[in-house]
Amino acid sequence: MRSDRDNPFRIAQEQFDRAAALLELPDNVREVLRVPQRELTVRFPVMMDDGSTRIFTGYRVQHNLGRGPTKGGIRYHPSVDIDEVRALAMWMTWKCALVNIPYGGAKGGVVCDPAQLSSGELERLTRRFATEVAIVVGSERDIPAPDVNTNPQIMAWFMDTLSMQQGHTINAVVTGKPIEVGGSLGRNEATGRGVSLMVREWARRQRRRLEDLRVVVQGFGNVGGVAASLISALGCRVIAVGDASGGYLCRNGLNIAEMRRYAAQHPRRLLEGYSAPGVERIDNRALLETPCDVLVPAALENQITDQNAERIRATLIVEGANGPTTPQADEILEERGIVVVPDILANAGGVTVSYFEWVQGLQSFFWNEQDVNHRLEQIMVSAFEQVCDLADRRGISLRLAAYLLAVRRVADANLIRGLYP
Ligand code: GLU
Repeated sequence: MRSDRDNPFRIAQEQFDRAAALLELPDNVREVLRVPQRELTVRFPVMMDDGSTRIFTGYRVQHNLGRGPTKGGIRYHPSVDIDEVRALAMWMTWKCALVNIPYGGAKGGVVCDPAQLSSGELERLTRRFATEVAIVVGSERDIPAPDVNTNPQIMAWFMDTLSMQQGHTINAVVTGKPIEVGGSLGRNEATGRGVSLMVREWARRQRRRLEDLRVVVQGFGNVGGVAASLISALGCRVIAVGDASGGYLCRNGLNIAEMRRYAAQHPRRLLEGYSAPGVERIDNRALLETPCDVLVPAALENQITDQNAERIRATLIVEGANGPTTPQADEILEERGIVVVPDILANAGGVTVSYFEWVQGLQSFFWNEQDVNHRLEQIMVSAFEQVCDLADRRGISLRLAAYLLAVRRVADANLIRGLYP
């Protein structure tokens, strides 16, 4: 069980409350925005390979529908619970508003450990979960996507299930699909690409040479792995990375391309068992505390807390994960002058290209990768500039500035739409 202090929903509400107070939002708007609009809990049976039946629990939470259909990933993880999904849904609302794409926020999750499931079990679980949440999902209602432990294949099963039930292919019902069934070029790399753009833009504003930056990345999945390669392609030195198996450190710089090839050969175990000359094994705690210029937490929530924030030795933190820093840690980091590019900005590249995928699917007109990456870059750089300018003007953190911009947009949409009936 989580303690109240690391309950992600309580944290998300605390972050929202700060912004709402500064924006002087009317009480009724505050009350609406600080809780999810709709929540669905489902319990459903899945036939296991040995012929037995297991009951799984899943959630889909839609935080706010004011700016358009809701959008957000589906997570498969043993620690998924309703409060985590609520927080992740709320963060999606602010994220979509911050990059100004026409969505509200949602999130889904199934309590399970996919590493313990066969491919057939994973497919049956996905198809049954898709069926259970079909009453709230749809290309104009709520559009899922990948998140922790879900991937393009799972999105293809999800799309196929809903399409079979309707009798025709509806590919805009989920994003993050394989290219063969209506996915977008550049979607897989989009979150990591957005993270790398934050590093590049920060260095430009600070007049730092990319070649001088030492970078540590926690997480080596779709976000951390891609971010590590694109950041090293920028010319930075990635000196440590880690995944569930622990950390890998080489002060002269890791061979990220080789590590990515290794992880691709063991998609379930990623870097477990990786070794190379000069590479030292460290634990997750040491990974986060490695002296560096840029730290990219790209795994799960609550990694930087009041327990370790004093010992973080980075100049910049770029949040590839959702919710990796607690509010107490935020305060400590701010006092210490460590800049945090917040999750709702730093990892918004994923949902931005999800939006492009959805638009392409609805129009049945597909773009080339250059167009996708170019538009992604425009959106991310412009959001970064807006957040930095506001933070500079008001002397506040990037997180608070991002929240002020995002919450304002969502509140305005809700106010302009007015009260029904
Ligand atoms: N799960 C991703 C996120 O947290 C992507 C969501 C999406 O593409 O809809 O932003």
